[in-house]
Amino acid sequence: MNGSRTSAVHGTEARAGRRREAAQAQLRRAEKVKVRYSFPGEIFFEEEGPAPVADLGKVAGRAKPPSLTILFIPLSEAQYNLEADWAEAGAEVILRRCPICSEDSIVGHGRRRKQAHDEHHDWIGIRRGRCNRCGKTFTFLPPFSPPYGHYSFLARSQALRRYFVEDRSWEAAAPTVKDPDRVADPSTLRRWFRSLDSSQPPFWFLRQTMRAIGAWLSRTEILVHSSLPLRWHTTFPFLARFWPLRI
Ligand SMILES: [Zn+2]
Repeated sequence: MNGSRTSAVHGTEARAGRRREAAQAQLRRAEKVKVRYSFPGEIFFEEEGPAPVADLGKVAGRAKPPSLTILFIPLSEAQYNLEADWAEAGAEVILRRCPICSEDSIVGHGRRRKQAHDEHHDWIGIRRGRCNRCGKTFTFLPPFSPPYGHYSFLARSQALRRYFVEDRSWEAAAPTVKDPDRVADPSTLRRWFRSLDSSQPPFWFLRQTMRAIGAWLSRTEILVHSSLPLRWHTTFPFLARFWPLRI
């Protein structure tokens, strides 16, 4: 009896050990993965790879990656702190400084609309610019809206909290959206979470991390990285930038 219990314990430990090793290997791989989104005011470098459904596909010049075409509008640290401030920030802003020429040579070059569903937004207006000197065109995105995908980071962050911290079902974890016809289905949530964490069993790391984040935030600790404070509404972009566990 003792022997079999011992071996069962050893088996559990061995499995835990294998999980730890897999986790470490994944972390090592993750270090080589390029971070996809940058905040704030940094350049979005388009990567090669599977093409996501893209509102901005044509704008981004997918045929010739990597091209730098998307700039996130910088916010002050204070603006990131409140969800309302973050959600309202920047859709109509245009940056003048060209990241190639380092001169204030960008002028307005039209407007577009993009889907960015969450409880505050459905479609947002975004601006484009063109550099007078080098001729590059740029698309300016507010920090809550990733370049691809129909849902904002606010929505994705809310889904993370609802599913992993509040233990809701997949259906009930769907983020609140302004447009009632755009409720995200469970497969969409799984895709978002998978983009952050490809561990096995599914979302094993993400679950631990979200619980840790829940504990930090409940103690009102503030974790700030490159002026992106960790708040409930910034968890998704925060993890996408600083904690990429993707293969
Ligand atoms: Zn330029």
